[in-house]
Amino acid sequence: MSYERSKELFAQARRYMPGGVNSPVRAFKAVGGQPLFIARGKGALIYDVDGNEYIDYVGSWGPLILGHRHPEVTAALQECLKIGTSFGAPTELEIDLARAIVEALPAVEMVRLVNSGTEATMSALRLARAYTRRNKIVKFEGCYHGHADFLLIKAGSGALTLGVPSSPGVPASTAADTIAAPYNDLDTLETIFAREGEDIAAVIVEPVAGNMGVVPPREGFLEGLREITRRYGALLIFDEVITGFRLSYGGAQALYNIDPDLTCLGKIIGGGLPVGAYGGKRYIMEQVAPEGPVYQAGTLSGNPLAVTAGLATLKVLKRPGIYEELERKSTLLARGLAEAARETGLVLSFNRVGSMLCTFFTETPVVDYATACTADTRRFAVFFQSMLEQGIYLAPSQFEAAFVSLAHTDEHIQRTVEAARKAFVVASK
Ligand code: PLP
Repeated sequence: MSYERSKELFAQARRYMPGGVNSPVRAFKAVGGQPLFIARGKGALIYDVDGNEYIDYVGSWGPLILGHRHPEVTAALQECLKIGTSFGAPTELEIDLARAIVEALPAVEMVRLVNSGTEATMSALRLARAYTRRNKIVKFEGCYHGHADFLLIKAGSGALTLGVPSSPGVPASTAADTIAAPYNDLDTLETIFAREGEDIAAVIVEPVAGNMGVVPPREGFLEGLREITRRYGALLIFDEVITGFRLSYGGAQALYNIDPDLTCLGKIIGGGLPVGAYGGKRYIMEQVAPEGPVYQAGTLSGNPLAVTAGLATLKVLKRPGIYEELERKSTLLARGLAEAARETGLVLSFNRVGSMLCTFFTETPVVDYATACTADTRRFAVFFQSMLEQGIYLAPSQFEAAFVSLAHTDEHIQRTVEAARKAFVVASK
């Protein structure tokens, strides 16, 4: 494969943008080489500027559950362009999306639309702090909730690590109110709450972690979070930016039957355009301005184009059999990959929940950040490069999910498994 044009563009991009990208995960730092510049996508396929074709498992990092340029999303967007792109005043479309979210997610009675997942988590935590009149928050090691200062906390390996900023520019005083706990570990959480439960405003969690690879919640973990937070008067916030409308139409909260106080959304609800949302119990959401005193705003919030793409996506997802089909395809891929790895004699750890998959290059079962870190990232990089050479586009990091979309056909999956068979052999050397 030739990547000449991508290389040229990357050289130009680096002149004008830090690292040549607008989000660090797009650079190929963890796997070596240079990012590909994408020219277009259709269904499950993307094409780079050198004309190479790839089966795409990144799906813009989760939003494109219907694949690229789904005809219904594209048609709706074309119609929307006729009315305008932004008004900074209410539109009926916003009610439609808010209603669709409230009807879909059992724990959401009211919702505020924002522009990104980062805005959603940041705003939900401001609300939680205002509502409880407490300052501290608990997050889990390896969970990512966007790049707000107080959420960019590097969690040390110790059980009761206090927040240490993981980026220059985050004041230590900001980090000090964030407590990082190990995922899937209720005992440690109990200890944290016994020590400072009266000061903790909220626990925020990815109900299925998707930012340290894919890590499912242990049986009872989410129930335990609900019970402990309730006991101490803290709020439970589900960050469903990835899982919302992906694991089921009602998100992870419907799948695991948990009732969080607040829920954060993004990705799929924007159908590939920039959207986020936070919502939850009416009595909490009524604290948000202008109904209540907790300020939060946005020039482009509820943007007609973004809302339209989201609505069109949810309309397709609501049809009968959609999630069953996604599950069938994802099972096919997961089984194929596991079998291919076995054939090469590689012992790997596979985690999957619905259409979120991860192949960890470790023999250790991955249940939290520490076990995720046992993965051999060098081997993953070799695997990644071999897959790319064979036309399979995976996220350029061991610690990301592969997303299956409705646009992936059985034939795409078969081709992916064939490619993996070869890539595992290369990676096993
Ligand atoms: N929360 C989770 C679980 C995410 O995966 C992400 C982004 O990947 C975010 C929040 C932040 O969303 P955004 O990138 O739209 O700001």
